[in-house]
Amino acid sequence: MRHLLSIDDLDRAAIEQLCDRAESFAEVADRPIKKVPALRGRTVLNLFYESSTRTRSSFELAAKRLSADVVNFAASGSSVEKGESLRDTVQTLAAHRPHAIVIRTPWAGASKLITRWTDAAIVNAGDGQNEHPTQALLDVYTLRARLGSLDGLNVWIVGDVRHSRVARSLVLALQTMGATVTLSGPPTLVPQELAVLGCQVRYTLDGLADADVVYTLRMQHERMQQAYVPSLREYAATYQIDARRLGRHQLLMHPGPVNRGVELAGDVVDGPQSLILDQVRAGVLVRMAVLYEVLASRGGPTAAPDPPAESSSGPAPSGGSDSFAPTSELHSA
Ligand code: ASP
Repeated sequence: MRHLLSIDDLDRAAIEQLCDRAESFAEVADRPIKKVPALRGRTVLNLFYESSTRTRSSFELAAKRLSADVVNFAASGSSVEKGESLRDTVQTLAAHRPHAIVIRTPWAGASKLITRWTDAAIVNAGDGQNEHPTQALLDVYTLRARLGSLDGLNVWIVGDVRHSRVARSLVLALQTMGATVTLSGPPTLVPQELAVLGCQVRYTLDGLADADVVYTLRMQHERMQQAYVPSLREYAATYQIDARRLGRHQLLMHPGPVNRGVELAGDVVDGPQSLILDQVRAGVLVRMAVLYEVLASRGGPTAAPDPPAESSSGPAPSGGSDSFAPTSELHSA
């Protein structure tokens, strides 16, 4: 895998491989020293043009747990505020020769665009309302860890689907893994055209009781130029998932940040059916797996120098994936 730009680039085998790899990293999180040498000598640049709590912290942790050097760049407080373009910013930072760039921007397609301006592996950490592939992967990982398989799973995605990059990636990933997906919300936020993705579209919560998983989405105000619902109160009255609407057999998910009292009632956020914190934990593991995969297939001019001879557990950096130590060896820090 050279870059991770879209879930569309991954077939079922590739998603399973990433989840397996993530699972193999799970025990690192339980160690007193949570580090393995897999990406020693590599540099990962986190380039964030939009705010982020979970994604940014987990990419940073993921890179550090793999012993990569990490540079964090936030557009606010940088020369972007002096008018520097995306291209100039990327080319400037690429001059430091990072091996991977993790990028979040408000612009659909930006992560793909920057592959033209640098040799680094590019990981899309959210491009406008287009895609958020690592979120979808961590959601698949979370469900696999809980249920074993997603085949035949009935998932309802409820809320502001129109503006959600999470929904776009998630629908693709869930379907690839054998689940069926229903999208539900007000017509203004769940356009009928989304049925082309092969999902059912519903404008009420009738039938929600048949879902195995209820995946809720935040109202993405930052991408709204107009009012899409009469009021948040009215929206909550019709679509909020609370203890009354969530069946005992159902699992609850949300990508965060949650607006308590709007798309979710506080009691279900903290309740036993909530997988929200499992999703956060899975984020680090899945992002470790993604960084490992994109850097494992990377050789050429941006490759790191060979590790010292005495280092038996670090990856051989420039010969493609075959030259990396097997996962079991990567874990011996
Ligand atoms: N954290 C997710 C995203 O960046 C979902 C959200 O913001 O509502 O798209």
